[in-house]
Amino acid sequence: MSMSERYSRQERFTPMGEAGQKTLGEAHAVVCGCGALGTVAAELLARAGVGNLTIVDRDYVELSNLQRQLLFTEEDARESLPKAIAAERHLRAVNSEIRIHGVVDDLRSRNAEELLAPAGVVLDATDNFETRYLMNDFCVERGTPWIYAAGVGSYGITMPILPDRTACFRCIYPAPPSGSQPTCETAGVLGPLTAAVASIAAGFALQILSGNQSDVRRVITTLDLWHGPVREVRQPNRDQNCPCCGKRNFEWLAGRRDEPVSLCGRNAVQIHARERAVNLDELKDRLSALGPVRANEFALKFLNDPYELTVFPDGRAIIKGTTDPGLARSLYARWVG
Ligand SMILES: [Zn+2]
Repeated sequence: MSMSERYSRQERFTPMGEAGQKTLGEAHAVVCGCGALGTVAAELLARAGVGNLTIVDRDYVELSNLQRQLLFTEEDARESLPKAIAAERHLRAVNSEIRIHGVVDDLRSRNAEELLAPAGVVLDATDNFETRYLMNDFCVERGTPWIYAAGVGSYGITMPILPDRTACFRCIYPAPPSGSQPTCETAGVLGPLTAAVASIAAGFALQILSGNQSDVRRVITTLDLWHGPVREVRQPNRDQNCPCCGKRNFEWLAGRRDEPVSLCGRNAVQIHARERAVNLDELKDRLSALGPVRANEFALKFLNDPYELTVFPDGRAIIKGTTDPGLARSLYARWVG
């Protein structure tokens, strides 16, 4: 007898069955990033009945997100709600039988243990190589499966990484790409593309979390939904000299690579070097003489043309209008102290 009518169609799919569904209900997925990829992946996993879902995102909802970030509404954008909070609220309304935990933060070396340790699978829905290397370090060290996913324009890529069984991210990308890369700001991005990439990634996650990891295909899937083609190629073998899975030198996890980051395609810099609590109400009073400022319990937003400062209660900030970390630091010092 099925426990619940809710999952009856999924249980009827033979490789899943009631046993797979039960396993799924006890599993934990961590979705890192809650933008175009993360919203779709998180919603599919929540609807599928993954029992524990952690959603990690540092950012807040904006109007320009709604074209492709399926979970969010105009109301979320008007309130500048943190994406992790908005996603948690919407997904609770979708499935009240699972545990959903929204975390308003970045994945970093200092919190990787806390955020990723419970994961049976980690889904990459981030927008930068630094975070992916950190995720790769953690997952290879612990033997946790993770799924790389990325999309820009009409082109996307995804790949399941099963430590000790497949190549790791760094076997394939030994170093971050140099020079300027196309970003969602410069090249744009199509909603059907990110939804497709996230759906493929969520499919791998369901295989892993339902006890069907042996069904995971060791492939790299690439797709261009405008020009074509859509294809799967076999993953390369592990690189015996890979610094991560070969030599087990976990540079990002050790924090040696933790720098302020210029945010992909956002003309923005994130400051996270100054970790200390900030009283947003007091800061609002101070900044209101200098320009428009609004604050809620989650964030303060201050406009000072051509810059826009968003400060979070833990002191973390995003400064829009520059890609120069040095300038961003000095603006932070000028406005926040
Ligand atoms: Zn490797």
